[in-house]
Amino acid sequence: MIDDWPVLDNHLHLDPDNHRGIDAVRDFVRLGGTHLLVVNKPSWHLGVDADEGADFRPVFERTIEVVEAASAELPGRAWPVLGVHPGLISRLVDDRGFSPTEARELMQAGLEEAASFVEAGEALALKSGRPHYEVEDAVWEASNAVMRHAFTLAADLGCAVQLHTEASTEMPEVTEWAAAEGLPAHKVVKHYAAGRLEGPVPSVMSEKDRLRVAAECDEPFLMETDYIDDPDRPGAVLGPKTVPRRVAWLLEEGHETGVRQAHVETPKLVYGISTEETLEDPNHH
Ligand SMILES: [Zn+2]
Repeated sequence: MIDDWPVLDNHLHLDPDNHRGIDAVRDFVRLGGTHLLVVNKPSWHLGVDADEGADFRPVFERTIEVVEAASAELPGRAWPVLGVHPGLISRLVDDRGFSPTEARELMQAGLEEAASFVEAGEALALKSGRPHYEVEDAVWEASNAVMRHAFTLAADLGCAVQLHTEASTEMPEVTEWAAAEGLPAHKVVKHYAAGRLEGPVPSVMSEKDRLRVAAECDEPFLMETDYIDDPDRPGAVLGPKTVPRRVAWLLEEGHETGVRQAHVETPKLVYGISTEETLEDPNHH
């Protein structure tokens, strides 16, 4: 561990069936990582062509198994984040002949399955969002409706939602929609975020420039790699060692407050988890 700090990667994927899986977790631990939020891979990456909500269950169940194996390696623990990748709508509409409305219904049904795992205490949070690329209006509207459905489910469960969206530093309308469904803004997280964000809590991609901004602005933030554990795209995103490396760097730069924000305070605020109490070594900050 890095001077006994908890070190959380807020968003990565583990795919032991196709790539490194737990080996990536061991790399994370070796560099000082302690806690992980593991997001299920997009269903189509696992060869699932969903026709109804229940078809997503094997994807979620496999993620939960992987999280258990990861927890066994970690000095802290891992938690699953489950949901439906917003890019699925294009696959359904463009490749499989769904109307935007049919795609919306299927994706909302998938989110309801994910919510059932949160309700059972087997997952921590939901994952939703909207395409990060241009789409036709009907697909955009359907995507927003899917995201708002995730907010409704999360509000009922009292859990957080991680969003995959377009790149932006201003998304106040999204947290207004969440609030309208009963979900407070601090339980909405934008993954792959820049250092500063109006609206959701930013889960900052762990590049130095972005982290410096986040650590200096004294607002809640998280750190992530979006490691995809995909043999076909080895350099597509940051590797599993990145968050602990960047925590060590932030501490060297004197950003202790920022490290505490990203690894203790914000996880508590957003998810209600204690990275300190779930750490094996009680000698921590
Ligand atoms: Zn991801």
